[in-house]
Amino acid sequence: MDVVDVIRAKRDGRRLTGQQIKWFIDSYTDGSVADYQASALLMAIVWRGMDPDELATWTAVMIESGERMDLSSIAASTVDKHSTGGVGDKVSLPLAPMIAACGAADPMLSGRGLGHTGGTLDKLEAINGYRVDLSPQEMLRILNDVGAVICAAGPGLAPADKKLYALRDVTGTVESIPLIASSIMSKKIAEGTDALVLDVKVGSGAFLPDLAMARELAETMVSLGEAHGVRTSALLTNMDTPLGLSAGNGLEVTEAVAALGGDGPDDLMEVTLALAREMLKLAGVDADPAATIADGSALAKWRAMVSAQDGDPDAAIPQASERTQVVAARSGVLAKLDARAVGIAAWRLGAGRARKEDPVSASAGVVCLKKPGDQVEEGEPVLELHTDEPARIAPALGALEGGIVIEDDPPDPQPLIIERIRA
Ligand code: URA
Repeated sequence: MDVVDVIRAKRDGRRLTGQQIKWFIDSYTDGSVADYQASALLMAIVWRGMDPDELATWTAVMIESGERMDLSSIAASTVDKHSTGGVGDKVSLPLAPMIAACGAADPMLSGRGLGHTGGTLDKLEAINGYRVDLSPQEMLRILNDVGAVICAAGPGLAPADKKLYALRDVTGTVESIPLIASSIMSKKIAEGTDALVLDVKVGSGAFLPDLAMARELAETMVSLGEAHGVRTSALLTNMDTPLGLSAGNGLEVTEAVAALGGDGPDDLMEVTLALAREMLKLAGVDADPAATIADGSALAKWRAMVSAQDGDPDAAIPQASERTQVVAARSGVLAKLDARAVGIAAWRLGAGRARKEDPVSASAGVVCLKKPGDQVEEGEPVLELHTDEPARIAPALGALEGGIVIEDDPPDPQPLIIERIRA
């Protein structure tokens, strides 16, 4: 098989055969296909897409590139959530402990930041000592003892996605229904969860901003999950503006801990509770997730999970040395705070990567002092930019141009939970 033939076939709009797909995924995973060749094929897929059979094969081969976890030793029913990626989307942090406090088990395998969106693992690493790399035995033990674990997929689990995900992040090849669907579903199916709820983001901060495309992505992933025996459903949720009050690794951990303590912003709590209820329904567990915040049991699970992963739940989260406020250009109502603009600003401040081997900053990010619908006075701060590197402030301000719109009248209210998709 010649890699250039495979690239050319997709470039010219032809369907890849099962043999070509298997050969390409295996050869990229073992290193015999180079990054630049894989990048070319990914870009061709972004443009040409894949038909349902091709995608089913591509996803199955990605799963087979590694092992499938065996969660049969977990006494509780297992259920997980995965988001297609958003700005300020720290939902996983309060959600996994809430699910555990309700009596189900959440084996959450998470990823790193992708493009302008943050990654759960990067956020958790802002906690002193927190270990995202666990052996399968450690993961099972924590899942049985605590009921929630948030860690990286081990090297043996969907290794093809690990390489492809990092490559897509830095080659402009994230925005593709087949590539997003196969990336998410290969990991989640290999993870071995009984049930899965997908949080498919819609709006400017989502990889697929358009509602019709987000719906197609949700339907594609639900079908892939069900075809592999995982009870799967999806919620389409709004991502026109950042979720909650911050975007950036450590800032989001602080916000998530406040949410677990009963002090979460309304939008974050609404999405987290909607996902928790959907997860518990699929898991067949009759419990009220809101009660786990009120009675402190979700916070106790968080502390237990962080400690079990060698993190210090009481450690101070790193703070940035430089802070710059972005003020309102006029008085009125904040009509738009664009999620993508804020995500790119946080990324440029140091919260995301420019190259796949780059480290991320735990302290960099954006704090939203105002949210759409809030009244603002001219000169009043709307955002606060956090970074340790002053040279990053000007590019971040550039990203925010046009992202903050103030008008006389309040914006039309947008539903946060847009639609539910079942098989
Ligand atoms: N999350 C993933 O795991 N993969 C994608 O491609 C996008 C979001």
